[in-house]
Amino acid sequence: MSPLTGKKALVTGGSRGIGAATALRLAQEGADVAITYVRSEDAAREVVAKIESMGRRGYAIRADAADAGDAVGAVERAADDLGGLDILVNNAGVGVLGPVGDLALADVDRVLDVNVRGVFLTAQAAAGRMGRGGRIVSVGSCVVQRVPGPGGSLYATSKAALVGLTKALARELGERGVTVNLVHPGPIDTDMNPADGPYAEAQSAGTALGRYGSAGEVASAVAFLAGEEASYVTGAEFSVDGGHAA
Ligand code: NDP
Repeated sequence: MSPLTGKKALVTGGSRGIGAATALRLAQEGADVAITYVRSEDAAREVVAKIESMGRRGYAIRADAADAGDAVGAVERAADDLGGLDILVNNAGVGVLGPVGDLALADVDRVLDVNVRGVFLTAQAAAGRMGRGGRIVSVGSCVVQRVPGPGGSLYATSKAALVGLTKALARELGERGVTVNLVHPGPIDTDMNPADGPYAEAQSAGTALGRYGSAGEVASAVAFLAGEEASYVTGAEFSVDGGHAA
């Protein structure tokens, strides 16, 4: 039997990149999976079609993580569609980089609304629906452990907040048998950070392996943390960064 057979999962920001790879990996391991998206409706439909082609149930929910009603509503809809919720992957995230003096209030609000408030509200709503064996996995960033250069103040602030949330929730939900963990990707080849982008060479050079990672390499770690094999892992930060922090 596949390790996640019968599990019901929600992956935020599952239309592209790391979220799409994670949704497909969880389905491959047996889970029924709902994803959220905002702009990429066609891509979200394609992910759902692939999930269904594996014989699992798949759902695409349009929900902007920056909108409190959407963030909570997505959890409610996913749990209704799937018939419960065992796994939440808080993947949706945005980055605005630039000198601290150039960042507008709207940038600050946008990044904190999606990367912090949205994650908090989604986790809060999901925690109330999870029973023993529940899993919350959030996607942080390698910049929480080592900031490679200037321009990352807002993004690093937002991702560092997830360390506190992960540890505090792990303490709170532990007695109910729900684990809460945080994955820190290094440079991963996606639309957000293409491996042929202007800063790619420096990012590759900053890793021990000297290369970008793939979305699938992050998805593998998320799937491990979402599964039974990780039953004694909680409150942990798990780097999938090619040695960026080494
Ligand atoms: P992409 O930009 O390639 O994909 C982002 C995904 O998130 C899309 O599915 C997008 O959906 C969705 N999304 C964006 N904004 C929102 C929102 N407001 N509400 C709901 N969904 C949203 O990013 P990555 O796959 O690269 O990144 C995924 C996560 O990994 C993020 O949290 C990012 O910060 C983190 N990360 C990425 C790294 C990298 O090098 N790529 C490194 C470290 C961390 P749609 O298109 O439908 O709007």
